[in-house]
Amino acid sequence: MPFFTRDQQDTLEAIHHANPAHGDLIEFLSGPLATFCAEKIAPRAARNDADESFAADNLRALGELGFMALPFSEKYDGMGACFSYLAAGLESIAKADAGFALAIAIHGTATDGLYRFASDRLKDKYVEKLSHGRLTGCFGLTETTSGSDAKTLKCSWTRDAATGEYILNGGKYWITNGMTADVFFIMAKGADGKVSSFAVEKGWKGTFEQHKIEGKMGVRGSNTAELVFADYRVPKDQLIGEEGKGFNYAMHMLNGGRVTIGAWATGIAQGAYEKFVKYAHERELFGKRLIDLDNTRREMSEMQIAINAGRMMTYQAAWWKTRGADIAAKAAMAKVAATEASVHVAERAIELSGGYGYVEDSRIERHLRDALLGRIGEGANEVLKIMVIPRALEKEFAERPTTQLW
Ligand SMILES: Cc1cc2nc3c(=O)[nH]c(=O)nc-3n(C[C@H](O)[C@H](O)[C@H](O)COP(=O)(O)OP(=O)(O)OC[C@H]3O[C@@H](n4cnc5c(N)ncnc54)[C@H](O)[C@@H]3O)c2cc1C
Repeated sequence: MPFFTRDQQDTLEAIHHANPAHGDLIEFLSGPLATFCAEKIAPRAARNDADESFAADNLRALGELGFMALPFSEKYDGMGACFSYLAAGLESIAKADAGFALAIAIHGTATDGLYRFASDRLKDKYVEKLSHGRLTGCFGLTETTSGSDAKTLKCSWTRDAATGEYILNGGKYWITNGMTADVFFIMAKGADGKVSSFAVEKGWKGTFEQHKIEGKMGVRGSNTAELVFADYRVPKDQLIGEEGKGFNYAMHMLNGGRVTIGAWATGIAQGAYEKFVKYAHERELFGKRLIDLDNTRREMSEMQIAINAGRMMTYQAAWWKTRGADIAAKAAMAKVAATEASVHVAERAIELSGGYGYVEDSRIERHLRDALLGRIGEGANEVLKIMVIPRALEKEFAERPTTQLW
């Protein structure tokens, strides 16, 4: 099972050919990580999907392997690698099991948020443990009444003047890893309407409940939860960064998250494509193999064009993220391109496989159920196309207007 393709390597090489560590990183992705995907992740994907079970042991093992630590500094026992290598690895993991990979992506978003915005004390407390899989993280922005319109979130914090503790009230919904996390990156609103972020743990004073959300159509290998806080006391030094900056942090984290979802979606698309191509070599009709029909060949080209475009945009946005650039538009465009590609490819792979594609045995139909989440999560594609991307395009026109015809 190929869990590191030539296209992944070529795309990384186009960006990193001059990087002295490039060879070692390719060796890691094509060696230990690809083997882990083939031996530990892929064989459990169908079962995780059927049972809605999350492979927590594999998250820990991936941490031990060093995968999640790739982009973090040596201080946290990381490799200081460009985010694009993490994206490539996540693509491989998603190809093996997109439900499990979603959990890894969100865990990474939470870790990255702490790494970028938390105090040194919190970073020392969490980053190494999270990036080595000894703790699990999650990201809590969405609520039952606020998704795309995230500014309307209602989960609130007040302050106990005597102890300095923050007191959380309210809830979060759709939280990936919410049942298994140790560190909850939670956004809550203060009396002034400004959002702050907190690194929340279980077991403090007050009520903190986790309720499993069941019956998802896809990404069933990830666990999803509703979180409920009632007078839940968060120690004062668990504030992340500065009071009132939490919404900014969340938006930055979503930019990085969109890159990871672009990679995740590319893995789904590549998986569906390869399973279809395998079948198309075996199936015969009208005296030909399915693979030899003109229409099949045209559709395969369209699939590969879409997959490669999404992959290139994703790895490139990841590179810009590592450079510290504003990636709002690049990440949004990559996410839209890759997630639209994954839905297109998974849907075409099913239809072109005929009845075989429509049943579980083909292992293709799961890819479509998983892929559909990509359009909704980490900023729905409509919102990215109506708001986030046009904002960047307007800015670009303001800075470099087209003033003359030629
Ligand atoms: C399986 C799963 C896992 C998730 N994991 C997490 C997580 O870990 N952490 C977290 O915080 N959240 C998570 N989410 C939440 C996810 O980010 C939201 O579902 C997403 O932001 C969309 O919000 P919503 O579901 O409330 O839809 P709504 O915001 O109600 O949107 C409904 C529809 O309206 C469209 N729409 C919205 N605004 C506009 C507009 N201005 N113009 C036109 N159309 C518009 C949307 O595209 C969508 O089609 C998860 C969701 C799912 C399903």
